[in-house]
Amino acid sequence: MGIQDRLIEDVGLREGVSRLTEDKIQKTVNAVFQGETGARLKAYAEICLRCGMCTEACHFYLSHDKDPTYAPAAKVKQTIGTLLANGGRVSPDQIYNMAQIAYSECNLCRRCVHFCPVGIDTAYMMITMRRICHKLGVTPQYIQDTAHSHSATFNQMWVKDDEWTDTLQWQEEEARDEFPDLRIPLDKEGADVYYSVIAPEPKFRTQLIYQAAAILHTAKIDWTMPAEPGWDNSDMCMFTGDFEMMGRLKRKHFESAQKLKVKRIVMGECGHAFRSIYDVGNRWAGWKHYPVPVVHSVEFFWELLTQGKIKLVSKYPGPVTLQDPCNIVRGRGLGDKLREVIRILVDGEIVETASNREHNLCCSAGGGVINCGPPFKNARVAACKAKADQLRATGVKTIIAPCHNCHGGLDDTVHKYELGMEIKFLGDIIYQCMERPEA
Ligand code: SF4
Ligand code: SF4
Repeated sequence: MGIQDRLIEDVGLREGVSRLTEDKIQKTVNAVFQGETGARLKAYAEICLRCGMCTEACHFYLSHDKDPTYAPAAKVKQTIGTLLANGGRVSPDQIYNMAQIAYSECNLCRRCVHFCPVGIDTAYMMITMRRICHKLGVTPQYIQDTAHSHSATFNQMWVKDDEWTDTLQWQEEEARDEFPDLRIPLDKEGADVYYSVIAPEPKFRTQLIYQAAAILHTAKIDWTMPAEPGWDNSDMCMFTGDFEMMGRLKRKHFESAQKLKVKRIVMGECGHAFRSIYDVGNRWAGWKHYPVPVVHSVEFFWELLTQGKIKLVSKYPGPVTLQDPCNIVRGRGLGDKLREVIRILVDGEIVETASNREHNLCCSAGGGVINCGPPFKNARVAACKAKADQLRATGVKTIIAPCHNCHGGLDDTVHKYELGMEIKFLGDIIYQCMERPEA
């Protein structure tokens, strides 16, 4: 089965290619190849051994009856490889096919890199394809809407400035029933911790802000959140290929932390947002590393629990399994710390999925694929079949996943494959089991 047999109708892709000519495509492709990719892309394209060792690494391939057109090397051949072979000159219809592959058939999870004997990064090839599509104006509608929202309002969900502070105040007031002197300190200069979130939290997951405030309050952390734009560290522009906008957003986020002179940023339980400031967006914005230290909440919770700043009155009943988020485990090496945190929190065994740690299978939602929205939903969930099989085989009922995207992807997966499992953030469990301060 080839890409022509599984094309999905998307208005953003369709209208985008309707404006293209072969001349425009060629000019744009070659401008990206000559101006942005350097030797890396050429080297990757030329050193592939066609050995097929990456093939079994990809959950798209595994979940689609080993259809070879989903193999990582095949995806490269159908996209960047075809562009290189044709000097950048292809038809608008071919660009549609390539866009569907790059945006919806690769989670940029980088699992395949670990299996390639010469270290080819297929995710880099797919993000380069997305970059070309962005410059051609060919992007899936839903993710592009989110990117537009972020560029217009500095948050991806069009949360107005007063709604943001109202929501924080609302959560503070709610939490005061339980913690009478709890504050969500806004714009506190010199705080030890700037707590960073993504826009879905004030929009529809406010309980995560409540829980984070409860944990930070209980641990007596000197913390703050910014009152002004810059607070949303999600980054769909990183995934659409709009790197200029990504750089602008990351600069805004870091500047909001610098303005408050905080000691470090603690990123909430989100993988892609963390990737956008420790790896991708920070470099594009010109920082080799980052101007303000950043840690993920897995590292932060590990500190709180191992240093006795959070004590438990009970443990969460196990056994449990866990989802290793690609961006914090494969990308940042936090697999051990994640397991240490879970061992502290859970009474019972951690039953590993067959593929785990840096070899985990992606939730099929990452890399912006879930953000491509309803047109691609069924295809996305179909690509999670291999993961669903591994989850079912654990025989447990709880999945711990410290990542928003993983939650979204696994929610759909648990439902579709009737796994009967519940999905928890670490914050859910810490909040449930921690000792409350005396009133
Ligand atoms: S989804 Fe992951 S494993 Fe598959 S091609 Fe993309 S980066 Fe490689
Ligand atoms: S494992 Fe590496 S060298 Fe082998 S086919 Fe895949 S990308 Fe090419």
